[in-house]
Amino acid sequence: MKIGLEIHVQLPTRSKMFCSCPSTGAEGPNEHICPGCMGMPGTRPSLNKAAVEIGIKLARLLNCTVPDVIWFNRKIYFYPDLCRHYQITQYETPIGRNGVYHLGKKPIGITEAHLEEDPGSMTKSGDGALIDYNRSGMPLVEIVTDPDISSPAEAREFLTSLLKDIRHVIDLPDDGERSIRCDCNISVGKERCEVKNVSGLKNVERALTYEAVRQTKVLQSGGKIVRETRHYDEERKVTTAARKKEFAGDYAYVLEPNLGVINVKGIAGDIVTKESPQGMVSRFQKEFGIEEKMAKQIINTSMKLAELFEHIARKADTENAVKWVAGPISSNWKILESQMPGRTDGLTDIIIQYKNKMINDVECSMRLKAFITGGTLSDMEKNGADLDALIRKAVSDNPSVIDDYRKNEKAANRVIGAVMKQTGGAYSSSDIVEATKRILDEML
Ligand SMILES: [Zn+2]
Repeated sequence: MKIGLEIHVQLPTRSKMFCSCPSTGAEGPNEHICPGCMGMPGTRPSLNKAAVEIGIKLARLLNCTVPDVIWFNRKIYFYPDLCRHYQITQYETPIGRNGVYHLGKKPIGITEAHLEEDPGSMTKSGDGALIDYNRSGMPLVEIVTDPDISSPAEAREFLTSLLKDIRHVIDLPDDGERSIRCDCNISVGKERCEVKNVSGLKNVERALTYEAVRQTKVLQSGGKIVRETRHYDEERKVTTAARKKEFAGDYAYVLEPNLGVINVKGIAGDIVTKESPQGMVSRFQKEFGIEEKMAKQIINTSMKLAELFEHIARKADTENAVKWVAGPISSNWKILESQMPGRTDGLTDIIIQYKNKMINDVECSMRLKAFITGGTLSDMEKNGADLDALIRKAVSDNPSVIDDYRKNEKAANRVIGAVMKQTGGAYSSSDIVEATKRILDEML
């Protein structure tokens, strides 16, 4: 089975792509429109540079080659939601080409990523249709993958991971309005069908699954798959044939003369691209030699936690970064997150003391907890629950003590001595003796 996706991502610019209409906040239909995005005669588009900048960031995220110069084309077709009767898009010089996205170990080829404007939106109403041009002229990047995806579930996994990276790299807000739309190409045998305009990750998986089953049944019964465009009916959860597949040749493309040639090289030089979560997972594996699962666990918790991990791994070492970040720091992350990166150095210092054997691991754990919760060490030490934790730790460091204690109560002294040494007078000896006996009795 071969699946390729065409993914439309709406870009988070403040204004539309070729005019100054705002891109968000319309309360009703046809509020954010002007003669430009309505395609009135005599108007000329002017390019929103922010859209090109975001396009470059996405192209880099997808490891694409970004050309030095780009230009735009008019894709000419008739449809009521497109009142100019052509869409401004990129045909010859996509902003990115020949990229690859690594889904774990699997590379998914990226044919290209190009900039284009969205048409308006049309809803059927009785015998006619209602058209809202608020969306007309909104900036998009269309990402076209190679047919490298091998199942509907993998398509969903790819989109989930990609969307997460996209949101992070271009600060895309997590809202439904701006979520992605996909055209899904799928072939079970030789011929493929395209399911147009599916929105939402769940629907992409469902539409592809339906289509895979349908195509398989047609082939099994000796039929032939007809190359066609299909629609996904969200309510009935089926795909239905629409018009005959349009080939690129069915559209007329001409140069858009009003925008000229854009110097991307000049713009690209000034753009700093944030590292994506998926990129960070690969780098952590390579740079710190940690397992993919561990890298993902840290990075998926929070990018800030990942930055803290990196800091500790560089200042102390990887082993301690894993031990303390995946342990006590992760489990108190809710408290810490809002205070980062301000407290990075304090946490790192405690771990360096442990690395240099100035404190043992119970002390290190207590100090980290105290530092995170803003309490002092003595507060923690006075807390009975933590005395119990220290005793349990001393027992588990020395497991033979339980059997010895069964034979002779004096064996408890080994634990009592160890705990007294660690806490250095913070607890009275009678408290330690009493608690140790209670805990050992429970363990018998
Ligand atoms: Zn406008």
